[in-house]
Amino acid sequence: MEQITLSGIVLSAMPIGEYDKRLVILTKERGKITAFARGARRQNSPYLAGSQPMTFGEFTVYQGRNAYTLTAVKVTKYFSETVKDFEKMSYGMYFLEIADYYGREGLEASDALNLLYVSMMALTNEHIPDRLVRVIYELKALVINGEYPDFFNCSNCGRSERLNFFDVKNGRLVCAECGDNIKRLVHLDDSTLYAIQYIITAKLSKLYTFSVKEEVLSEMESVITPYFVSMVDREFKSLDFI
Ligand SMILES: [Zn+2]
Repeated sequence: MEQITLSGIVLSAMPIGEYDKRLVILTKERGKITAFARGARRQNSPYLAGSQPMTFGEFTVYQGRNAYTLTAVKVTKYFSETVKDFEKMSYGMYFLEIADYYGREGLEASDALNLLYVSMMALTNEHIPDRLVRVIYELKALVINGEYPDFFNCSNCGRSERLNFFDVKNGRLVCAECGDNIKRLVHLDDSTLYAIQYIITAKLSKLYTFSVKEEVLSEMESVITPYFVSMVDREFKSLDFI
């Protein structure tokens, strides 16, 4: 049978039968796939390390009628070893759940995969607050999937200056003048808007190269997280631990 090697990350692993695992892997080449790892729960299994969530690697599989079967794994990065802190682990699991939500079989996923990689790396970086990593990940996941609002022009008059308010309920940006007549807006400092615009346009490799003040971070949270929640129709279990 023909074997193929795919680069990806294990999103989830479920025990099957006595010794096997059913893996959901987000792959660059074929999107989200399901692969069975036979004997992966045996102590001497060659898949033991490579069949844990958060493991990046090269997965060799053969394609059956309904699913793939794993035949070899070459681990390149094993984040469950570096992300030891419980809270960081919960953020990491949350990112995997989001990748699972957007992943589709047959849909190439190199951006989603790279976003996961740089975000997991950022979680291991002591200098970047986890809360910042979360909002950056949420916004960039929306951008990759084409579901983000216009953060460059007022949704009411089209102006590109004094964009200091966000209407969370309707998911739109409004300028200071138009904002006078609308209720319940979240205020955006110029630096908050700039940070959001940066996240939207930055290359993935440059995504985690800035830091922000607490006020800016909390404004970002009050805009990005509710907007993200309004765009996805799933509750993420890992959030219960954060
Ligand atoms: Zn306006």
